[in-house]
Amino acid sequence: MKKETLCVRGTNQKAFDERTGAISVPIYQSATFEHPALGESTGFDYSRMQNPTRLSLERTVAALENGSEAFAYSTGMAAVAGVAELFSIGDKIIASRDLYGGAIRLFNRVSKKNGIETDYADTTDIDEIQRKITKNTRAVFIETPSNPMMDVSDVAEISRLTRANGLLLIVDNTFLSPYFQRPLDLGADIVIHSGTKFLAGHNDTLSGFTVVKDPALGEKIRFLYKTVGACLSPFDSWLTLRGIKTLALRMEKQQSNAQKIAAFLLQNRRVKKVLYSGLPDSKGYEIMKKQASGFGSMISFEVESFALAEKILKSLSLISFAESLGGVETLITYPTVQTHADVPVAEREARGINDRLLRLSVGIEDADDLIEDLERAIG
Ligand SMILES: *Cc1c(COP(=O)(O)O)cnc(C)c1O
Repeated sequence: MKKETLCVRGTNQKAFDERTGAISVPIYQSATFEHPALGESTGFDYSRMQNPTRLSLERTVAALENGSEAFAYSTGMAAVAGVAELFSIGDKIIASRDLYGGAIRLFNRVSKKNGIETDYADTTDIDEIQRKITKNTRAVFIETPSNPMMDVSDVAEISRLTRANGLLLIVDNTFLSPYFQRPLDLGADIVIHSGTKFLAGHNDTLSGFTVVKDPALGEKIRFLYKTVGACLSPFDSWLTLRGIKTLALRMEKQQSNAQKIAAFLLQNRRVKKVLYSGLPDSKGYEIMKKQASGFGSMISFEVESFALAEKILKSLSLISFAESLGGVETLITYPTVQTHADVPVAEREARGINDRLLRLSVGIEDADDLIEDLERAIG
C-alpha cells in the first residue's frame, strides 16, 4: 500500500470493530479487560500493556515506517528515555552534536547519572563517527535534518558503519516523518518520533513513538515499555491517529509553503543566512535527494542583528512565537533560549546557534499571507 493510503487506512479497522462497522477507531477508554477464562486473553489485559485504540495507532505508525512494531508513548521524550533504558552502566552512545535540546538534557543529566556516557559528534562526517567508536560504544543516535542547523547525516552510510561495529543506529525522524523519510529502510535499527509534531500535526496533543524492524529488539523495548509505563492514553492515541489521516496532505502543503518562504527569505537583504534542506546549494542537498522523498518544512534563518530578531518575534501577527513544530499553524522559535539553552554559549556560537538565529515551522496557511507577515516584521 502507498503511504497516502496507509495514512488514512493504516490498520484494518474492520478487524477491530466488526460488530459496529465504525469507520473511526473508537476510543477504548478502559483500564482493564475481562479474561474469558483462566489462562485465556482477548489479547488485551491491561491498558498499560495494550489498548485497542493505541494498538490501531501503533500498527499504523509501524506500517508507515515499514517496521514490524511500533510503541506509542505519552511524549517524544518518553520515547527517547525508553530507548536510553536499553543501555547500562559503562555503555557509550555517539550522538549528533546538533540534537533536540531535550535529548541533550536527558543524555547529559539523566543517562549520565546512570553511568551512560554520550559523546557528541558531527554525524555529517562519517570519519568523525568512526574515530569516536570505542569498545564500549553501543549506539549512534542521529537526527536528520537536525535541529536547528538542518545538518543532514547519511543514514545508509552510517548504518554500514554501525553494522560493521555491532552498534545500534537510532534515528529521530521527527523532522520529516515517515511520509518523506523511512530510516529503517536505510538501515536504521530504531526510529524515534515526537508524534506531537508532524504525525499528530495539529498542536493539540503530545505523543511519541519508537519503531523497529527486528522482533528481538522489539521484545526488549516491549519489556521496558510495559515496565516503565509511559504509555499513550486512549484519547491521545485517537487524536494522533486522526492527525495521521491527513499527514500526506499536510506534508505536501507545508513543504510547498516552506519552499516559497525560503525563496522569499533568500532575497531579503536583512536575512544573512537561510538553512533549509531543500535549497540546491545547501550542504546536505544531495544526501537529502538520495535518502528522502521530500525536504519538509523546517527553516532556520539568521538576521542581521539581535535587535532585529527581537523585533521580528514581537511584531509577527499571523505567525505565532511558540515552541514546537510540525503542526498546521506556522510557528517561530528562538533556538538559543527555547530549545538550546542547555548547550554552552561558546559551543552554540561556534556552531552558528547565535542570538540572530530564528527557526520557522511552516504550516498550511496561505503562503502569501505568511510571507506578508514576515515581510512586515523583518522590514
Ligand atoms: C519535540 C521533539 C522531541 C521531543 O518530543 P516531545 O513530544 O516534545 O516530548 C524529540 N525530538 C525532536 C526532534 C523533537 O522535535
